[in-house]
Amino acid sequence: MLPQEEPEEEIAMTYRAPVKDIAFCLEQIAGLAGLEETGAFPELSSDLTAALLEGAGALMSDVLAPLNHPGDMAGAKHHGDGSVTSAPGFKAAYEQWVEGAWGSICFDPEFGGMGLPRSLQLAVQEMAQGANMAWSLLPMLSQGSIEVLTAHGTDEQKQTYLAKIISGTWAGTMNLTEPQAGSDVGALRAKAVSNGDGSYAITGTKIFITWGEHDCAENIIHLVLARLPGAPEGTKGISLFLVPKFLVNEDGSLGAQNDVTCASIEHKLGIHGSPTCVMAFGEKGGATGYLIGEENRGMRLMFTMMNNARLSVGLQGVGIAEAATQMAVSYAQERRQGQAVGAPSKDSVPIIQHADVRRMLMTMRAYTEASRAICYETAMATDYAHAHPEKEAREDYKKLEELLTPIAKAWSTDKGVEVASLGVQVHGGMGYIEETGAAQFFRDARIAPIYEGTNGIQAIDLVTRKLSLDGGDVMAHWIVGAQELAAELALQEDEDLVAIGKELGRATKQLGKVTGWMMDRMKESPNDALAGATPYLELFGIVAGGTYLARGAIAAVDGLAENPGDGFLKQKLSVAAFYAANILPLGRGLKATICQGASGLYELDADEFSTAL
Ligand SMILES: Cc1cc2nc3c(=O)[nH]c(=O)nc-3n(C[C@H](O)[C@H](O)[C@H](O)COP(=O)(O)OP(=O)(O)OC[C@H]3O[C@@H](n4cnc5c(N)ncnc54)[C@H](O)[C@@H]3O)c2cc1C
Repeated sequence: MLPQEEPEEEIAMTYRAPVKDIAFCLEQIAGLAGLEETGAFPELSSDLTAALLEGAGALMSDVLAPLNHPGDMAGAKHHGDGSVTSAPGFKAAYEQWVEGAWGSICFDPEFGGMGLPRSLQLAVQEMAQGANMAWSLLPMLSQGSIEVLTAHGTDEQKQTYLAKIISGTWAGTMNLTEPQAGSDVGALRAKAVSNGDGSYAITGTKIFITWGEHDCAENIIHLVLARLPGAPEGTKGISLFLVPKFLVNEDGSLGAQNDVTCASIEHKLGIHGSPTCVMAFGEKGGATGYLIGEENRGMRLMFTMMNNARLSVGLQGVGIAEAATQMAVSYAQERRQGQAVGAPSKDSVPIIQHADVRRMLMTMRAYTEASRAICYETAMATDYAHAHPEKEAREDYKKLEELLTPIAKAWSTDKGVEVASLGVQVHGGMGYIEETGAAQFFRDARIAPIYEGTNGIQAIDLVTRKLSLDGGDVMAHWIVGAQELAAELALQEDEDLVAIGKELGRATKQLGKVTGWMMDRMKESPNDALAGATPYLELFGIVAGGTYLARGAIAAVDGLAENPGDGFLKQKLSVAAFYAANILPLGRGLKATICQGASGLYELDADEFSTAL
């Protein structure tokens, strides 16, 4: 669907930032309290976490969520002079974001950051993404540029750019994609030639650049991948450059406009409020760019940004799933159709009374909470990898982060689409009509499995690089941990926990066997392993979600022992039990598909796929 000219009348959006759920996940599942004990974050406390989540939640629920549907209808607008006007209300909302310093949570205090854990920044991001995914991409891209500059920028680059991007006064973008270079980034052709004064002249066209041009920030700092003359082919010959929209004078003020323009913006399925730009660099001779890091090392540097961005995109799946679930629940509580099974009354009942609708809603809630748990577990691994007092533990957490990142990205975004689709289904015909907003969630969710490395590429990354970390020990350690948890659950008194433990035990055993097959095939016949990579990632995601929800279930049972009437904890336990009984067994059915090998996929020649035989 193309953005329409006039915004429609605002519809009632139901999104309320799930502050309590996120706090539960961070504290009871992912281990935020342990992070306090490391001493690396002196300001961190449970009171601060609560205040921060509450404050951000209010902004997302009250300011960003109401702009979501109008932003979808109006979209961003491109003008003949290359400028882009953001959707109505987006600029003012961004000003509030900057005022609240919501983009500075996890960054270096030397440059105006708050020096708090990354998991808290991501929590704020999840809420922004649930409230308004199109808008949330603006600060998300800036966050990526901050990470690159912090890790690889020179002192001068940091002094000039970091504080401004951290505060949000300036925004950042990521420029990799070209028409012939998508998943295969090494095929890119943008050029960089030294100007002889420390700067470079950048020429070339980048496509699909998120928030590449807009009116929300004073300056836009583009991070651009390009090739130097004579650079080796492929990813080994790519360098990373910083290209500001406005050049920056020595005193920090803005100077002349750089030779970079937005040629057009794309018409697309969803996230209409996010301008997806074709960026033309150097049409007047060369955009001025500055090298970040060393020549020909750009790809490695960009991975700093991409790995973190992958987790952020995983949380887009979670955010959209949460929003779609909230909307579906509220519709199902209101919409009346049919009678309750076995009830004497002929009165119609709210559809939430029907078993099939309940199945949809429980599945939506279960996938949302499982993917949230996976994402915050990954986020916490990044924090411990930075903050743990012992070097060996820091290294172990880094490897856990690496192992889990493709799951966090791919599984959570696949589930985001699935949950948003179920949300449409719960609404019946009204779900297909734009008015309810359920369709927008489905359309918006669909990009997340594609960008930031398609989910197919994530699955390949998992089986080719991540399973072999430390010769397979990292994965083996993860499976042993999940099996120990399953055994611990099976010994509990609580019946729900015992049932969860049994299912988790079966699922982890299965994962162990299939992982062994994968690792063998990777050595002996890699295409067999690649053929099963996506269903393997699905299995790992299912088991990881079940493992982390089981941790939450233990905490819920402990809490309920003290306060049996606690509805929130009852919900956490019910969802974990539903997941174990209904979702974990789905993993068992995947073994055949994962271990099928590639031969069946190559029965037909490429031209035999066409129907005109
Ligand atoms: C709305 C939107 C916003 C975006 N934002 C940005 C941005 O800000 N910056 C930026 O640089 N880019 C951005 N992108 C680009 C995005 O990252 C790419 O679209 C994505 O990486 C996929 O590349 P592609 O579109 O060329 O697809 P292709 O690479 O052509 O892939 C097509 C299909 O083939 C599969 N495939 C490709 N190679 C392999 C392989 N080796 N093995 C197995 N399967 C393979 C893929 O998984 C996919 O299913 C954006 C794209 C969109 C649509």
